[in-house]
Amino acid sequence: MSVIKRFVAGAVCPRCGQMDTIRVYRNEIREYRECVRCDYRDGQNLDGSPEPVSELQTRVNQPSTTNTSGAKIAPVTAQPVKFDPNPTTNTDDEDN
Ligand SMILES: [Zn+2]
Repeated sequence: MSVIKRFVAGAVCPRCGQMDTIRVYRNEIREYRECVRCDYRDGQNLDGSPEPVSELQTRVNQPSTTNTSGAKIAPVTAQPVKFDPNPTTNTDDEDN
C-alpha cells in the first residue's frame, strides 16, 4: 500500500519554524505530520485519542536516572502499604 504524502500550504513547522515544509499522510488509523527540513514528526489517531509514544524529548522524559548535576535520583519503587483494618485486639479489657 502506497502512502500519499501531501504538503500543507502555509503550515509552519513547530520545531524549525519553516513554512511549507509540513506534509501529512495517514494510514487506516492514524494521521501523521512531518517536516522535510528537520526531523519533526507528529502523529495522532484519527479517532482523536492522544498520542502515547512520540513525545518531544525533554529532560522530563529522559530515561536517565541522573540529572545534569550528577546527583543520583533514586528510582521510585512501589512500596506495599499494609493496612490492617482489623488489628488483633489486645484483650486487656478485663481488668474489672
Ligand atoms: Zn521542521
